[in-house]
Amino acid sequence: MLNIYGQTKEELVKYFIEHQEKSFKATQVYEWLYQKRATNIDDFSNIKKEIRDQLKKDFAFNLPEIIERQVDKDVEKYLFLLSDGEKIEAVLMRHDYGLSVCVSTEVGCNMGCAFCESGRLKKIRNVEAYEMVGQILQIEKVIGQRISSVVLMGIGEPLDNYENVVNFIKIINDPKGIAIGARHITLSTCGIIPKIDELSNLNIQINLAISLHAPNDSLRNKLMPINKAYPLDKLMEAVKRYIAKTNRRVTIEYVLLKNVNDQVVHAKELAHLLKGLNVYVNLIPYNETNHLEFSKSPQKQIQVFYDTLKKENINVTVRREFGSKIDAACGQLRSKEI
Ligand code: SAH
Repeated sequence: MLNIYGQTKEELVKYFIEHQEKSFKATQVYEWLYQKRATNIDDFSNIKKEIRDQLKKDFAFNLPEIIERQVDKDVEKYLFLLSDGEKIEAVLMRHDYGLSVCVSTEVGCNMGCAFCESGRLKKIRNVEAYEMVGQILQIEKVIGQRISSVVLMGIGEPLDNYENVVNFIKIINDPKGIAIGARHITLSTCGIIPKIDELSNLNIQINLAISLHAPNDSLRNKLMPINKAYPLDKLMEAVKRYIAKTNRRVTIEYVLLKNVNDQVVHAKELAHLLKGLNVYVNLIPYNETNHLEFSKSPQKQIQVFYDTLKKENINVTVRREFGSKIDAACGQLRSKEI
């Protein structure tokens, strides 16, 4: 059965038209769900009983349930139970500019990046659009505050679950929905080229982040198996097409792994690869995990890498570290479960 929280506005409009109803009913349903946060359909007072009964027949209204919450200073980790018993996690981060949530897009992940915990559990299934929407709604309910930005950087590869992810973005971005501005939504991908091209045609002003992590194919092949299917030169061409099409600056994520990809020669090679592109590099201090042999670059080396890029006129920032105490940091989700 379809879930109401996974319906884009256009899909609901189509639904009402098919049922010989006015299309503005879709907006009314959105207002009840996302503005008034009504959870009982019988409270939808401007929608007549017959339609409410029809909606009840056609849609489920359940959301994933929070079964565990871990709170640290600026970060909280939430464990959700899905209706089939699977579990996923989301992370809330408190910044001085607002609250952001890192959502999971798949149960497990098949991308197999060597340094990432998430890939140790193979993909079991897609996270449905309503389950992504649910991660936001349920966290907002618990904290009694609104989320201002969303990053698709939890467990899973968003572009390996394209349709649900795009619907999720449309739903949270809708001004009558949760109304999170496109520029406050960031999708991070390991580089599935055909889907990057598809995304560029959507005409949504979201931020695209590419997990690059290596400046050449031989290293990237070792760290990220996806590189064998979509090698660096092809990926960079796709990034160029994306920028040309959307006129948006793209983020290049680069996790610094001690003695693996963090040397000056790597920084120079990276600068060369990115020269002239409308991108900025986000250096990610590696979060060490218990199971994997990689370690974090020393602070000094991070600084040297940063300075080298700067000298080469590359825009670069170092990502603030969140949540290592409660295993809520990038790549740490689920680590306690397996
Ligand atoms: N599959 C997507 C999004 C999920 S991961 C992607 O590959 O982009 C979000 C980011 O965290 C990615 O850049 C990923 O490579 C990085 N990451 C994974 N494990 C990490 C770790 N232990 N420490 C720091 N970053 C990590």
